[in-house]
Amino acid sequence: MRIGQGIDIHAFGPGDHVVLGGVRIAHERGIVAHSDGDVVIHALCDALLGALAQGDIGRHFPPTDERWRGADSREFLRRCRTLMHERGHVLGNADVTIVCERPKIAPHAEAMRANLAADLACEPARVSIKATTSERLGFCGRGEGIAALAVVLLVPATAGQ
Ligand code: MG
Repeated sequence: MRIGQGIDIHAFGPGDHVVLGGVRIAHERGIVAHSDGDVVIHALCDALLGALAQGDIGRHFPPTDERWRGADSREFLRRCRTLMHERGHVLGNADVTIVCERPKIAPHAEAMRANLAADLACEPARVSIKATTSERLGFCGRGEGIAALAVVLLVPATAGQ
């Protein structure tokens, strides 16, 4: 088995929605990012790459590469799934925590789980999405940005799902 962890942070900026776990959520602010700024998927990709000892998301999908401008981060996740499968692993489970005061995450958590499970070729029961505020402390608490943390466990494909 292999374990990996990932973290991602993006600043809020002008806009009318955020994308989290592949779900577009109406919000009075947007995310400043080269891609769609999906911190959930970026943290999850880094956790998967970490578990595989394959570097980080910046190495695989560099922001300097025009191919990834405005990219749908779900494509990053599907590419990480391919790397995982090529190395003989499948997802045992993933646990993601989103840190923000707003938007409210709970109403969208099931849709995020469904997206992530589809991209990782597993059942939603293996994917956890949860959220916390930071009690108005720090950049998340002041509403300046949003963070996500992810932990994954990969298991040998031969162990079955
Ligand atoms: Mg990011």
